[in-house]
Amino acid sequence: MKKGKILTCFALITLCFLLVSNAYAQKSLTVGEVTAAPGEKKSGYLVVPAGSDAPEVKVPITIINGKEPGPVLALTAGVHGYEYPPVIALQRLRKKLDPSMLSGAVIMVHVANMPSFMKRTVYYNPYDWKNQNRSFPGSPDGTMTERTAWVITKEVIDQCDYLIDNHCGDGNEDLMPFLYCTEVGNPEQDRKTRELAVNFGIKVIIHEIDRPKDPSQSVYCANTALVRGKPAITTESGKLGRSDEEDIKRLTHGIYNTLKHLDMIDGEVQLLFDPVWVTEYQIIRSDYDGIFYPLVHRAQHVQKGELIGYLTDFFGETIQEVKSPYDGIVLYIIGTPPMGKGEPMASIGKFK
Ligand SMILES: [Zn+2]
Repeated sequence: MKKGKILTCFALITLCFLLVSNAYAQKSLTVGEVTAAPGEKKSGYLVVPAGSDAPEVKVPITIINGKEPGPVLALTAGVHGYEYPPVIALQRLRKKLDPSMLSGAVIMVHVANMPSFMKRTVYYNPYDWKNQNRSFPGSPDGTMTERTAWVITKEVIDQCDYLIDNHCGDGNEDLMPFLYCTEVGNPEQDRKTRELAVNFGIKVIIHEIDRPKDPSQSVYCANTALVRGKPAITTESGKLGRSDEEDIKRLTHGIYNTLKHLDMIDGEVQLLFDPVWVTEYQIIRSDYDGIFYPLVHRAQHVQKGELIGYLTDFFGETIQEVKSPYDGIVLYIIGTPPMGKGEPMASIGKFK
């Protein structure tokens, strides 16, 4: 009897130990068609179903599943298909990241907007002319852009703990590096988002509090994670449809910093400078279709009222002057001639 009790106790303790250790063991992760067991790196596709507007689209993804447990970090690129440094940065990271050295998992979305990437369109998907980064969380019954956003929301954002959506100046934007840090009003989550922003290592951080709070109308990719309780940032590194080495390296360096900050790989976060916070920015939009002439460039300091560009009609007659709304810095300015009515001409930031 006594011996029986001891054996029962021993069996219970063993069971508890197995349950606890299993709960903390790294598990397989499935995203779309791709499943990676602990210690595996697997690539494949998220399939966005065909609709009446467009054929099926395949979004290339990679899962790098660590051997040890830890957070799931989602990295998205190509939400805007003419923004190349994020796409190239993820290609490099996919090769270098070793699952045996990783705790947790990384999900990479290599080109989130494949039709825009293949057709080289700025801002918009060429099937429905919608902006993917204004279409989240998307809809299974919507147009191609909305269906794609929906698949990314369900398969990637719903499964991650942290998200970094990587952008740059689109094919027409002369942009300086910065990132968006958005607070949602939850002190614990906001602290983690600020830490994510500061530890990435891009100097200029735009602090925002007024993005949509409704999960069914989250609009932006990173905001879709934020309103679902997950710390997330949007990075901007690159300009004018180019793939400059310094812009790619800024992203790979920042993502390595993030992996270290989240204790997903060994090593110390390396920050090259203290952050500078931008507390306000203004996007100046065009009143007309026309031809745009910038008079300043990215990262240039400008004064309130300074002429920073002008718009002409198609005969060269000036129809709109663009002046800086305050003393600040040029976050981006359009660097190529075509300008559509209502589209951004420049974004000016104001420092804290
Ligand atoms: Zn973008």
